[in-house]
Amino acid sequence: MQLQRPETPEAAAAALGSGSVALAGGTELVPLLRNGLVRAETLIAIRDAVPRGIDGTRIGAGTTLAELEADPQIPQALREACSLAASPQLRTMGTIGGNLLQATRCWYWRLDFPCYLHGGERCHARQGEHREHAIFGNERCASAHPSDIAATLLALGATLRTTQRELTVPDLYRLPTDDNRKVTTIEPDELILELDVPKPEASTYLKAMDRRQFAFPMVGVAAARSGHSVRLALAGVAPIPWALGSPDDLDEATPLTGTAYKVEIARTLVRRAVEAVS
Ligand SMILES: Cc1cc2nc3c(=O)[nH]c(=O)nc-3n(C[C@H](O)[C@H](O)[C@H](O)COP(=O)(O)OP(=O)(O)OC[C@H]3O[C@@H](n4cnc5c(N)ncnc54)[C@H](O)[C@@H]3O)c2cc1C
Ligand code: SF4
Repeated sequence: MQLQRPETPEAAAAALGSGSVALAGGTELVPLLRNGLVRAETLIAIRDAVPRGIDGTRIGAGTTLAELEADPQIPQALREACSLAASPQLRTMGTIGGNLLQATRCWYWRLDFPCYLHGGERCHARQGEHREHAIFGNERCASAHPSDIAATLLALGATLRTTQRELTVPDLYRLPTDDNRKVTTIEPDELILELDVPKPEASTYLKAMDRRQFAFPMVGVAAARSGHSVRLALAGVAPIPWALGSPDDLDEATPLTGTAYKVEIARTLVRRAVEAVS
């Protein structure tokens, strides 16, 4: 396997695609390469090509979660989401760009079962083990999006700039369909460069986990208030980060037998999050 270290976004984007993949902190990509879930002939190390650091509302995609959780310029919900994600070691290496593009933690997918998300006919989790899975958007693939940060950026109304376009967080994600099993809209030769994260008047991120720390969200709830309007978004409940128009939208959940408990956890966390930002 080859390694390239381009120094500009243009050079990095030109080197991507056709068997080349972007390597940021490597905390997600390296295990996927090791397990054969991603194949690459060339790794494009993007550390020198992608902006890193925080300047007011702008965050470079190469900024680490550890840098974000410690910076007072960052909205409280995002600092909380970063500080509750993974472990201190992983947060020191892992970038916000890589976090947004992490793959599902569904073990059927990680063990390379020929499931729907891998291009197969059926979702193995639906009939099998699915306690950690989705309560929304789970008609085809019932995986639960693992990013605390993505749900928080959704509630905060963040936008992204890539080497090809400007987009909102909802534009970054898509539910898998029969003709396209991807859950993001990022092209193989597209790099996330920067995020713009508006500052709300108040915000918070609450997370229920299987254990006290170092765990993916069972349910994560981000709330951000500007004026009288509160935006809510959930992690760990759908194959993509899930926006909630209002707490009553939880009545529309479509849990599997083993995930019904998540609806009640989400109700409690949503109520607490709304109270916290009001
Ligand atoms: C044990 C463990 C526990 C974790 N727990 C949590 C958790 O509780 N909550 C949570 O939110 N996350 C969690 N994570 C995810 C972790 O935060 C991510 O692995 C990390 O942020 C990824 O960043 P990275 O820089 O290492 O990405 P990489 O591993 O380098 O890349 C990940 C993917 O993104 C692509 N990529 C990276 N940067 C860019 C860019 N700028 N533009 C385009 N493509 C890019 C890569 O090609 C690759 O496909 C956990 C991870 C592990 C391994
Ligand atoms: S939940 Fe998604 S990733 Fe998991 S087995 Fe079903 S289709 Fe595959």
